[in-house]
Amino acid sequence: MTNHEYLNEEETMNGYTKIDRYNPEKIENIAKHYSEVLIEMGEDPTREGLLKTPERVAKALQFLTQGYDAQPAEILKSAMFTEDYSQMVVVKDIEVFSMCEHHMLPFFGKAHIAYIPNGHIVGLSKLPRVVDAFARRLQVQERLTNEIRDCIQDTLKPAGVAIVMECKHLCMAMRGVQKQNSVTTTSAFTGAFENEKTRAEFLRLITASLD
Ligand SMILES: [Zn+2]
Repeated sequence: MTNHEYLNEEETMNGYTKIDRYNPEKIENIAKHYSEVLIEMGEDPTREGLLKTPERVAKALQFLTQGYDAQPAEILKSAMFTEDYSQMVVVKDIEVFSMCEHHMLPFFGKAHIAYIPNGHIVGLSKLPRVVDAFARRLQVQERLTNEIRDCIQDTLKPAGVAIVMECKHLCMAMRGVQKQNSVTTTSAFTGAFENEKTRAEFLRLITASLD
């Protein structure tokens, strides 16, 4: 039994869950706690502007962490095709929105993913969906990067996977060291991308512009 059996079959199709409806019991529980948090902050949760805030926050949290219910490997398996193509496939500038597990504040930016097919290709839209499935959880950028790499490697079994992720962390920009423009870059490679030449080609492709 999962926490989210309220989702019907259609919504969990292909391992990709789009939450349009929420678990009312969970929302209520989380909202109750946020009411307390507001009081601790010195706020008045009964004033007009805050009346529905605990519920809104609870719904937002449930949305932002829906990746716990997704099955990223299934997302890939739902669109794998036998194909002879064996050159690098690159999907760049994939938007990433996640939340750091240390402060529960957003980090966001872009992911660039490449793989070299080894008998199978995957529907291109599935790569951003895999990113979402792992990003919509409490994360650190390093683990997020590795989880995406491992999922693609283990499921598609390509000749190699490469991923570079560049994100801004609000926990760094708005608090702590308050470095507003610093960007954190992480990367992960397997197989053919361990080779310096192949990796250089990938890095050239993701930094090249089309115009
Ligand atoms: Zn943080």
